[in-house]
Amino acid sequence: MKFKGGIHPQYNKLTAQMVTKKMPLMKRYIVPVSQHIGAPGEVIVERGQEVKRGQPLTRPNGFVSVPVHAPTSGKVKKIADFPHPMGKPLAGIEITPDGEDAWYEEVSGHGPWREISPADLKDFIRDAGLVGLGGASFPTHVKLSPPKEKPIDLLILNGAECEPYLTADHRVMVENPTEVMEGIGLLMRVLGVDQAIVGIESNKADAKTALDAACPGDLDIKVQLVETKYPQGSEKHLIYALTGRQVPAGGLPMDSGVVVQNVGTALSCFEAVEFGRPLTERVVTVTGSAIEKPANVMVRVGTPVADVVEFCGGLKDDVGKVIFGGPMMGIVQFNLEAPVLKGTSGILGLVEDEISQFEGNPCIRCGNCVDACPMFLVPSAMGLLVERNRFEDLGDYNITDCIECGSCSYVCISHRPLVQFFKRGKLEWREHLKSLEANSQ
Ligand code: SF4
Ligand code: SF4
Repeated sequence: MKFKGGIHPQYNKLTAQMVTKKMPLMKRYIVPVSQHIGAPGEVIVERGQEVKRGQPLTRPNGFVSVPVHAPTSGKVKKIADFPHPMGKPLAGIEITPDGEDAWYEEVSGHGPWREISPADLKDFIRDAGLVGLGGASFPTHVKLSPPKEKPIDLLILNGAECEPYLTADHRVMVENPTEVMEGIGLLMRVLGVDQAIVGIESNKADAKTALDAACPGDLDIKVQLVETKYPQGSEKHLIYALTGRQVPAGGLPMDSGVVVQNVGTALSCFEAVEFGRPLTERVVTVTGSAIEKPANVMVRVGTPVADVVEFCGGLKDDVGKVIFGGPMMGIVQFNLEAPVLKGTSGILGLVEDEISQFEGNPCIRCGNCVDACPMFLVPSAMGLLVERNRFEDLGDYNITDCIECGSCSYVCISHRPLVQFFKRGKLEWREHLKSLEANSQ
């Protein structure tokens, strides 16, 4: 099934065939307390305290919350505000490693997942601090807890990795197919579903081959190639491409009987149960023409970006931008002391020449953005409304359905900053709704 719209950017998957490298221990780690959607946890360690790798540093604060863990053994040097990839400084815990890299005593396997109850599996996943590793960073145990009135009959694994440059999920599937498949089986058990489909873009056929060969005989897991087209990895578009099911406007995958998890998350869920290991490291693609030696790197959560970049040979002199994530939806970094988070799939360095410095021009109503929008929206009209501060009219154009994929900006020949318009427009639209609600009381 093909979805409407989307774009075909230059994919530039420079690191697709590069085996993941492991980083040595660094001199310091900064573990942000806030790394996921939902409430940040409560800090439970003190300055000067000795910690071990995998030891919880925070306690969850409510249902939509998971702990963060020490990435190595050492001493808590400071608890303070530190540079954070999202922009403003946020609370974090600085750890000075002792070089031993010793695991916390309580880290031990929970036994074969096939013999553990779904409720216990879900608790182990929460306690391991698992969040979606595809970038959205939503706590995994919450996604695995759909309400009773939303029956789920299918688990979909997102291995599309449609963002240009990124290859972390690709390498996870090629290098750890057995663990990914076991993780999928474990997630199927938690959800009580009999079937799962792994969706992979057609430019990663070797990942399909690896997963097909590793599929356990007792599980109904299909591995399906889908068209290579951005934003194929958007949950709603992947569900449609694989099953033809349409998630209703304003709805969630569970409204069409589906839960979607990232392939890297499946691997980490398996490790959390099989070895009892919390999420303390992940694969990050360090890439782009401004990086001396692009690579896929296994990075401890909390490693400052500057250290990761240095491990990859450093930045070139003509670097123009460093981005967390891919070029379409990533976040520009202003301080390379910001650390890698659980949801950091890539660090992209672009040189000056690659960065567009255009001023946005008036809309010439060419309609390119309407053709490119995979959500059936009218970006040209929404952009004009934001520009004219007519936020109260944005609801008529379903602005909240915008997934901020950037396809419209990519094709706009007037170089209009459409995604930036829509980010602001959504905030203003929500404020407008709130004020309507307040006035009606
Ligand atoms: S950013 Fe929003 S409006 Fe633009 S193409 Fe994507 S979904 Fe459509
Ligand atoms: S692509 Fe740009 S110029 Fe063309 S209609 Fe859309 S906003 Fe206007």
